Amino acid sequence: MTTLPSPMGRPCAFLDRDGVLIEDTGYPHRIEEIRWIPGIMPAIRRLNAAGMAVCIVTNQAGVARGKYDQATVARVHVWMAEQARAAGARIDGFAYCPFHEKAEDERYRRASPRRKPGPGMIEDWLANFPLRREGSFLIGDRETDLQAAAAAGIPGHLFPGGDMDEFVSRLLVAA
Ligand SMILES: [Mg+2]
Repeated sequence: MTTLPSPMGRPCAFLDRDGVLIEDTGYPHRIEEIRWIPGIMPAIRRLNAAGMAVCIVTNQAGVARGKYDQATVARVHVWMAEQARAAGARIDGFAYCPFHEKAEDERYRRASPRRKPGPGMIEDWLANFPLRREGSFLIGDRETDLQAAAAAGIPGHLFPGGDMDEFVSRLLVAA
């Protein structure tokens, strides 16, 4: 039997960044302070092998708060993707939201539908890339992540800590 790829694309595992991909150490933005979540690389390889895209959706209000700039976010994301690739794990893309409605910097003072719990980042991925909603899900470490998933019409799973590969392998078995 031959399974043709869906014309609507692959399902996607949307991963929060801080607390899911890397430890949430409080606005992490320097490469030397980044600590990967245990089991994250095998977890991403497992998602890749299951035919899923892997896209990061992360609020980065640190930009709005003036803690670091967008170039820094971009640099860190390139580094993360390269580190993952070196471990044989493919991250397909990063989306981040730099806005916050109480930002000091007026360029970033905005209530954005892309900021979780809004579904904007997920919706943008689904609308602009060959990804399908059916079979997609999100993994987050906060209630606002799960609210974003629900608003986008996909399941959201709360990562309670521990080993990400064990968590993902249970999710894929259940699916
Ligand atoms: Mg988080």
